[in-house]
Amino acid sequence: MKLLPHEHYARDLLARLYREHRVKHHRTLFRVVSRSYTRFAGGRPQIVLGHESLQRAFEKGFEEYPSVAWVLAGRRPVGLEGVHQLCLHEFAHVLQYRQGGFRGRCAHNAVFVRHYRDLMQRHPPPPP
Ligand SMILES: [Zn+2]
Repeated sequence: MKLLPHEHYARDLLARLYREHRVKHHRTLFRVVSRSYTRFAGGRPQIVLGHESLQRAFEKGFEEYPSVAWVLAGRRPVGLEGVHQLCLHEFAHVLQYRQGGFRGRCAHNAVFVRHYRDLMQRHPPPPP
């Protein structure tokens, strides 16, 4: 499967995050599904990037789930910044899981938010 430039960006960013945070993981997948998500097969994270959600973040802007929209102060970053934000969101689930704070029914809990905000500080988006 040939990746588009913004998909390359997502793949490289996630590779860097896994490396810097020393997380053993399964290969990031690109799938023709609408949503992106993170799963944990055998206890190892795997981020599945949905083609549509990446495209949407890139072209129309990344829209956060209502319960955590405040983290972005209502902003909707677009272009590579949107892709960047989507990746940080999914990677925050990776760190949340590692810490034991991942629960299926309340995925966007306080542990998630703490990791998400920390990632935003440590890994700022590319200049527009
Ligand atoms: Zn999430």
